[in-house]
Amino acid sequence: MPAIRALPIDLVNQIAAGEVIERPASVVKELVENSLDAGATRIEVEIEQGGLRLIRVRDDGGGIAAAQLPLAVAAHATSKIASFDDLERVASMGFRGEALASMAAVSRFALTSREAGSEEAFRIEVDGGRMQPVRPARHPPGTSVEVRDLFYNVPARRKFLRAERTEFAHIDDLVKSLALARADVAFHLGHNGKPVRLWKAAADEAALFERVAAVLGEEFPAQSLRIEQAAAGLRLSGWVGLPSAARGQADAQYFYVNGRRVRDRVVTHAVRQAYADVLFHGRQPAFVLYLELDPAGVDVNVHPAKHEVRFREQRLVHDFLFRSLHEALAQTRAGRVPAAVP
Ligand code: ADP
Ligand code: MG
Repeated sequence: MPAIRALPIDLVNQIAAGEVIERPASVVKELVENSLDAGATRIEVEIEQGGLRLIRVRDDGGGIAAAQLPLAVAAHATSKIASFDDLERVASMGFRGEALASMAAVSRFALTSREAGSEEAFRIEVDGGRMQPVRPARHPPGTSVEVRDLFYNVPARRKFLRAERTEFAHIDDLVKSLALARADVAFHLGHNGKPVRLWKAAADEAALFERVAAVLGEEFPAQSLRIEQAAAGLRLSGWVGLPSAARGQADAQYFYVNGRRVRDRVVTHAVRQAYADVLFHGRQPAFVLYLELDPAGVDVNVHPAKHEVRFREQRLVHDFLFRSLHEALAQTRAGRVPAAVP
């Protein structure tokens, strides 16, 4: 047997990268979530060649101090939690302190940032996990991250990436779902120098409604019901698609828990049950739903990519969702279809 050895840190990061960074869209997700956590009001995503060549995310958020740049790209370093208690009630999108280190281990990576209130910007580059010294740079207040040649040093991973068009479609889907989560933030998405999505920030519901229509289709608003329910510390709002908005595939289902899009067994079951007697077998409902609850009531640390959550009170959440949706859909059963426009 060979001797047991501690692995070098860049190899550790490269292995860890496999858990969070699956494809260009995963990089975009982590970067946009960081921008949201930094309080950005405008987020620009520039993509070249489906993200295989370049992913650049720029925000106008709080920025990072020069002295903190090496830590920002180090593994297990985060400004978002400091203790186990914090983890139990985390309200930010990030908390693992792993995303930047992971992507920097498998790309040519650069982060440029100017902290709010500072006159100077700084830049740090990491090439395949090798960190370069921090240098002065030019940048407006906020942060830009560039990820070039993703997986250039992990040929086995790079081989699994699909065509430019497919990878970009994943990125577009992702930006759409993040944009639905945060209508108060402006989003820009460009591909190969051409604008693809341009969403102005909008704080009111009419503007959110516009985004919903842009993502789910112009006909969705007329085929859905506004929902707004609160009970036992749970709040559900959004739009439930009528049977006429149902599709052959489950590709128009947006469910957010405290602003985070999740796939969850409890949620899926409650929704399916609520639709059971209004949808034909095999038809998939369309919906955009936002569930809000005390962060302590939901564990987001279930999966590295945080697609999954675990509710502390599963039964309560299930019954609340079922009852809220069932009640809304009951109106369609009675043949009364109220207008959905807010
Ligand atoms: P996490 O988001 O889990 O904390 P990351 O690796 O994604 O871990 O980021 C590490 C740290 O770098 C964050 O905790 C944050 O302090 C800082 N950071 C990353 N991106 C940004 C950004 N766009 N604006 C400001 N700070 C950022
Ligand atoms: Mg993060």
